[in-house]
Amino acid sequence: MEKGLVSIDRWNEGSQAYFLTHLHDDHTAGLSAAWRRGPLFCSPVTASLLPFRFRGFDVSLIRVIEVGATRALDLVSPASGAPVRVLVTAIDAHHCPGALMYLFHGTFGWVLYTGDFRWELSSERSQLAKRMLLDVLQGNTIDVLYMDNTYCNPSFSFPPREVATKQVIDIIVMHPDHDIVIAIGNLGKEELLVNISKALNIKIRVWPERLRTMHLLGYKDVFTTNTSLTRVRAIPRYSFTFETIDGLNQMRPTIGIMPSGLPWLLDTSKNTTLYTSLKSHQSEASPDLLQDMPHVRKLKHNAYCVPYSEHSCFSEIAQFIKVLQPSNISGIVSSTYIYINPRYYFSRVDRYLSDKSCESSKSGKSEVDKMGSSSGCKPSWQVRKEWKIKYVSLTSSGHVRRVSGLPRARRGAKIEASDSVSSS
Ligand SMILES: [Zn+2]
Repeated sequence: MEKGLVSIDRWNEGSQAYFLTHLHDDHTAGLSAAWRRGPLFCSPVTASLLPFRFRGFDVSLIRVIEVGATRALDLVSPASGAPVRVLVTAIDAHHCPGALMYLFHGTFGWVLYTGDFRWELSSERSQLAKRMLLDVLQGNTIDVLYMDNTYCNPSFSFPPREVATKQVIDIIVMHPDHDIVIAIGNLGKEELLVNISKALNIKIRVWPERLRTMHLLGYKDVFTTNTSLTRVRAIPRYSFTFETIDGLNQMRPTIGIMPSGLPWLLDTSKNTTLYTSLKSHQSEASPDLLQDMPHVRKLKHNAYCVPYSEHSCFSEIAQFIKVLQPSNISGIVSSTYIYINPRYYFSRVDRYLSDKSCESSKSGKSEVDKMGSSSGCKPSWQVRKEWKIKYVSLTSSGHVRRVSGLPRARRGAKIEASDSVSSS
């Protein structure tokens, strides 16, 4: 697509239409109350939250686009001055409330921008999103897929949110005399909290600003700011530290729960021993509690990490690419600590997709049947050992620090202009 037509989650000058996928901070950098650069397209939920996030924002700039709706934008080519028609369809990203993917179509072809997304095909919402995407595409190929590559590494394997929710509920139930603190951001993980509330028939305490967000999202009776009503409360992620949990434990027995797709561990300041460190912290877990929760990690200081993620895990990303078979893929998460180029793995997935041995052998018999198991259908990608895991740690000063044992230059393959992923 020609430059100067649309911007997605980018707020600098020079575009004729702007698209906001969702209201997480890393997608709104540059957006402010004073921002006036053009029409801003977003979901109805995002539209309802935006004026509260940026007080004084000119709401006349907001253009609401519903999930499943297609809008036609009549723009002008900055290069030739000729009219350009861009069609855009909003697809549910199943990330935080209001999160959308945008599918663009025009003379430039088909471009899908996922924003942050969870492709959890066990859920009805993702199934519906899949049907919508395929219906709009009508057999056409996506020319460029801009994709949430947060967990685009085979090391990132975690269950659907429904399973992780049950794990959180189990931890709470098994600590009947403890207060519980759960770390959340300023948007997202609402369904986790609502399901805890329903399962245990309790209210969830949140901080005042978060309560206002909950009310804007339509949750009326689940949340409270009253400490005396409940032993379960959500706290801002930035304040979830081992020091905080230690301090709370001096007053009352307290369990901390971090819902996240990333593994969390104490900061040892020794990058080379991080994996050992993680293992040693895991060893403190009670075998009784954790034997049925392979993804749950109990860390020191009464803190648990439960893999409740609003981003797709690696196998879901692989499924997504398998369904869409785009001509080109580009990762949208480019921060220094976690950038993982999808092509590093999905040039291999592409080979896997074209490898028919999984579906039928030369004899015409299914390879799966022949082997008596599904092991013959494993993807053909090779995982480099040094890529095994990315770490997130809590520093002793209480700040979140993300670390990797590798210099950044060794992470991912560099994107070259000619390095395209064939969909053949
Ligand atoms: Zn997000």
